[in-house]
Formats: sequence, structure tokens, C-alpha cells
Amino acid sequence: MARIVAITNQKGGVGKTTTAVNLAASLASLGRRVLLIDMDPQGNATTGAGVDKQGLERTVYHLLIQAADLATVRVRAGAGDFDLLPANRDLAGAEVELVDAGNREFRLKAALAPALAEYDLVLIDCPPALNLLTVNALTCADAVMIPMQCEYFAIEGLADLVNTIKKIKARLNPGLVIDGVVRVMFDNRNTLAQNVSDQLKAHFGAKVFDTVVPRNVRLAEAPSHGLPALQYDRASRGAQAYLSMARELIEKGKAHG
Ligand code: ADP
Ligand code: MG
Repeated sequence: MARIVAITNQKGGVGKTTTAVNLAASLASLGRRVLLIDMDPQGNATTGAGVDKQGLERTVYHLLIQAADLATVRVRAGAGDFDLLPANRDLAGAEVELVDAGNREFRLKAALAPALAEYDLVLIDCPPALNLLTVNALTCADAVMIPMQCEYFAIEGLADLVNTIKKIKARLNPGLVIDGVVRVMFDNRNTLAQNVSDQLKAHFGAKVFDTVVPRNVRLAEAPSHGLPALQYDRASRGAQAYLSMARELIEKGKAHG
């Protein structure tokens, strides 16, 4: 049965999509059966996985409004050995359309249920907001991964996110755990980054991944080629960091049984 991991942080530009796409490719290269779900109307994970988001007839939007089932939405990533539930701007309409719908927080969970036996890991790339799309992701997830840049305001934002996760846990998904905080776009020479990193460890302890993703231009270039970094430049520090993060995630999954 697949372990479902939501990659979330309500801030934009913190490395969610980069983490989702590169973890998906890395886990696949380690032999895991992976499904990546793009829950952001910006469709960046879709593009990053090498799928043209404009030409899609069916997307996660159709899943959520129950106009399509998973088999007709799912595509193979253009590069990297994993499956993708793609998204584009259509998804922005889901929130409004579902406002009065029954079980609206459980739409993604219901859509995924029949396919869970086909995967070892399902990764969900969340939008930069604590909205209904993120709530759908957190309601069906087993665990949350939080990518963050080690800046002062990052820690402040984390408090809101942790509160949201607690609320979802209490109301919708009692089994939800925070599986980890990952330090991304890390700059070693920056003392503030070191301080924030120390505070994170003091607060989250073993939940902070050992793997630190450095700032690496290859990670930023790869999506414009529709490739995960592993396929774009396997030897790059960015690609290697995500491989190491994937190994850690697999170990954490084992710890949870
Ligand atoms: P989010 O999904 O949280 O909005 P992204 O993953 O799209 O964040 O990252 C924001 C920007 O930073 C993108 O342009 C991405 O290519 C770049 N980026 C992400 N991680 C790194 C990194 N480790 N090094 C360099 N650039 C990065
Ligand atoms: Mg994103």
C-alpha cells in the first residue's frame, strides 16, 4: 500500500515543486513505484515532469469534481520513471465549484483509493496557500514534508502551517504526521541560515532531514528542459542531494511500518 506524502508550505517559492519532482524521479530511480500529484493550478510540477500542461484534456481538476476517474487523468512523466496526475489553470476553479459540495475535503482521497496498491509512494505537490486544495492533500496524506529556506520569516510561517496540520489531524485525518522538515536552497556561507537551521533542529529534532539541498543552478535550469535534475545533470550537487533525501524518506517510511 502506498505511503502518501504531501509536500507543503503556504509560502510560494520555497522549493515545494522542486522537491516534489526531484524526489519523485529519485525514488523511481531507486526502484520505487511513484505517483506524483500536481495540486497547484500553476502546474509547475506537471511542466517539471516533462508534460505539456496546456494540451491536457483531463487533469486533477476533473478528478476533484468527479468528472473523470484516475485512470483517465493519469499520464506517464516525460522523463523519470513515474506516473503523474497533472494540473493546469483549470484547477483554480475547483475551490469555488466545490464550495457547497459534500465531502469536499475528501475528494482526492476518494479518487486515489482504487490506485494505492499500484504504488509505493504518492507525492503531492501543494499550492502556496492553506486552501481547499491543500486541505484535500492533507486529508489523504499519511505524512507531511515541509521544505523550507532557512530565513528568519520561514520559522514564523511554520507556526501557522503546524497549526493547520494540527487542525486537519483533529478534524479530518487523525493519522497524519509531520515526517520531516527539509532544508532547501541552503547557503552554507550564510550565518543566519546556520542559526535558523539550529533553531529548526532544536524545535523539530529528528524530524529535520539530515540531507540539506544546496542552492544549485542545475535544479533551477532542469524544469525549463522538462527534466528532473537527475535526468538533466545526474552528477550535479542538487540531483545528488535529492537522491540522498529519497533514501532518507524511504528509511522514515520503514520506521512508520
Ligand atoms: P514552490 O513550489 O514552493 O513555489 P519552487 O520549487 O518552484 O518553489 O522553487 C522556486 C524557485 O526556486 C524556482 O525557480 C526553482 O527552480 C528555484 N529553486 C528551487 N530549489 C532550488 C535550489 N536548491 N537551488 C536553486 N534554485 C532552486
Ligand atoms: Mg510550486
